[in-house]
Amino acid sequence: MTNIDSYNFNGKKALVRVDFNVPLDKQTFAVTDATRIRAAVKTIKKILSDGGSAILVSHLGRPKGGPEDKYSLRHIQSKVSELLGVNVKFATSDDAKKAAKDLKAGEVLLLENLRFHKEEEAGDKGFAKDLSKLADVYVNDAFGTAHRAHASTAVVAEFFDKSDRMFGYLMESEIQNAKKAITNPQKPFTAVIGGAKVSDKILILERLIDVADNIIIGGGMAYTFFKAQGGHIGKSLCEDDKLDHARMLMEKALARGVQIKLPVDSIIANDFRNDAENKEHPSNTIPDGWMALDIGPLAIADFSRLIKESKTVLWNGPMGVFEMPAFSKGTEAIANACASATEHHGAFTLIGGGDSVAAINQFGLADKVSYVSTGGGALLEYFEGKTLPGIAAILG
Ligand code: AMP
Repeated sequence: MTNIDSYNFNGKKALVRVDFNVPLDKQTFAVTDATRIRAAVKTIKKILSDGGSAILVSHLGRPKGGPEDKYSLRHIQSKVSELLGVNVKFATSDDAKKAAKDLKAGEVLLLENLRFHKEEEAGDKGFAKDLSKLADVYVNDAFGTAHRAHASTAVVAEFFDKSDRMFGYLMESEIQNAKKAITNPQKPFTAVIGGAKVSDKILILERLIDVADNIIIGGGMAYTFFKAQGGHIGKSLCEDDKLDHARMLMEKALARGVQIKLPVDSIIANDFRNDAENKEHPSNTIPDGWMALDIGPLAIADFSRLIKESKTVLWNGPMGVFEMPAFSKGTEAIANACASATEHHGAFTLIGGGDSVAAINQFGLADKVSYVSTGGGALLEYFEGKTLPGIAAILG
């Protein structure tokens, strides 16, 4: 593996795997959030300013293995051009070879959605080899898909010399920041895990018990833990097949001296609607017919204090149904506590996972925390201790 900063792209064509899986307006197909494109600009500009050219490859959405106009990367061509300040060319697989061959120094070519070919997700070697022939060097800057062993995210790397394959800047900083939180974190280390499902978070919780001092559990998943302890949770979210697992996790944490914090109170509602009747209530005695949709004020105070006392904070998953204003206060308070921990106490705060990223953006606090990861599933798998194919392929 080589380092992008010290690599000279002069006269080289670089195949750059980016994550341009951006949201598009359903009617106009205009890019509604260009964060992921912006995140790749530094890498692409480095290639161009060295005197190289860039061939950008990505997926968009979930096409079923063939072309679908709504998932065409042609829709983002003008946005990529605008953000790079370069007139980006576009090619489908039919003309990719010629377009790549004709590409001159300083030029950028965007290829059509790779998932229009079944071979991409299948990690097909022949497909990966064909891709590799378009370029002299391979740069992986798609952390968001690093947990997938697809042709363009992992398999293609083997067709380049070790000295001609590398991470892009985004990928480098994602890995660095994730490492900072999970390998030798500064103590105290508090992990805040929320969201709807315990089942999605079991592996990360198990790993966190080995490294964290405190684990805050909020969001819908917290109520499975209350029920596991004999609490009454009304019609709050619960995964009954995970009660034993929840109990086991709590026992394991206790044995390790790791503090698991659940929300002592909640905002409960009589329906899953923003305008449903709601009130504050202790989380372990929720009446029948009511459901907890956010953490309550006592929990907010408790969690915020713990976050502000920490030196490292990892936050994944909302504390409640933050998409509804009536149930967004808990999530907003956690976002504020993370920002404050960084601003006033120099804590390292890492926010990762789709919904907590959406939340921190919604509250306008993204630039007040230490790092907001672009990887949802990839970041979780990294924390779970799994080897990510996209990382291994570059290092291997
Ligand atoms: P996840 O994808 O598992 O991280 O879950 C995120 C989703 O969980 C968001 O859409 C939230 O609205 C939802 N959520 C968070 N807390 C609750 C809750 N107490 N009850 C129902 N849904 C929740």
